[in-house]
Amino acid sequence: MTDHAVLDRPALSTPQDYIAAEARLGARNYKPLDVVLSRGEGVYVWDVEGKRYLDGLSAYSAVNQGHCHPKILAAMTEQAGKLTLTSRAFRNDQLALFYEEICALTGSHRALPMNSGAEAVESALKVARKWGYEVKGVPADQAEIIVCSENFHGRTLAIVGFSTDAQARGGFGPFAPGFRVVPFGDAAALEAAITPNTVAVLAEPIQGEAGVIIPPAGYLKTARELCTRHNVILILDEIQTGLGRTGKLLAEEHEGVEADLTLVGKALSGGFYPVSAVLSNDAVLGVLKPGEHGSTFGGNPLACAVARAALKVLVEEDMIGNAQRIGDRLQASLAGIRHDAIKEVRGRGLMLAVELHREAGGARRVCENLQRRGLLCKETHEHTIRIAPPLVLTADQADWIAEQFEAALRDPT
Ligand SMILES: *Cc1c(COP(=O)(O)O)cnc(C)c1O
Repeated sequence: MTDHAVLDRPALSTPQDYIAAEARLGARNYKPLDVVLSRGEGVYVWDVEGKRYLDGLSAYSAVNQGHCHPKILAAMTEQAGKLTLTSRAFRNDQLALFYEEICALTGSHRALPMNSGAEAVESALKVARKWGYEVKGVPADQAEIIVCSENFHGRTLAIVGFSTDAQARGGFGPFAPGFRVVPFGDAAALEAAITPNTVAVLAEPIQGEAGVIIPPAGYLKTARELCTRHNVILILDEIQTGLGRTGKLLAEEHEGVEADLTLVGKALSGGFYPVSAVLSNDAVLGVLKPGEHGSTFGGNPLACAVARAALKVLVEEDMIGNAQRIGDRLQASLAGIRHDAIKEVRGRGLMLAVELHREAGGARRVCENLQRRGLLCKETHEHTIRIAPPLVLTADQADWIAEQFEAALRDPT
């Protein structure tokens, strides 16, 4: 702790040096691929030895706009030189503009800016409970929130408490009460779980971390109808599916559904900075009064300026339409690969997954093979590889990805 010389030392030299230092000093809560990246541009990233890779993950869809997008970078550096943080004790000249733009684009009445995705989820859960007590008239401390099996909504205590993933929740209890889990995609189970004390249903339109699981057609629409009929808030977590990833600005548009609360994060900053938001109709966010919720960094001028630029390039450069077109093309090419290892190719837009048969030797091996071929992908669970490149992907790059997949399966060395 007292060795100041470490602050003036040159960069480490080999990838192994970085990996060893991480292993020695870091919390061991991740098992990344052994690639140490130092630069990114568009769909490409480069490691410390100068090798180029196509990014097939986009930081879990936080980099939809491509790495280091020049217009977001310009907005960030300009704002960073002017004003970065005021806290919400004072006002700043970026927040109102951010509100106007995101509300107009998403058809929302009000927005609550936060930082991480998990914070947006927590904020929505708090607001839903408050709405339940103050508007719906649920007796004090009796509010119930329905969530889905195999959900992923972040890593806070309340959120992992209603996870069904043993790794995410094991050893972290006791957990907050008031959550009920129903099978994802099962509208009848959802209806059966609703009680007079139910205040909200929380779901991902497509489950990302679970392995790009698309619910049966009509599920979201039915969920919307059930929520309306039983006076329950529908919260859709679009932190991964939102902002163009599935070929629409929001994935809920695929079923013509409007949630009461829609959560966005990740690509809201194009990967530059943690920015998230709860988007709402007037009735629900309207229950919050001064002092009842907050965040030191939430809504800061740097975050707002970055988010405004991230939204602008997404729309102006037609990344959403590109995700649809190139996503369809890539999905078709992947589905065209004839190989015994492939169980299913699925997805929407550029949110794709290849699921392998259990006998195929695991997804991690394929990801390591793809890494050697210059394509970075990450397995989710044992047998599924997610493919979610930046939305600026070209047709040629999409074809190249499918070729690498085919080659990796045929030559699994
Ligand atoms: C990533 C993610 C979150 C959590 O976001 P963080 O910024 O990591 O807290 C929540 N929900 C979904 C669907 C996500 O993909």
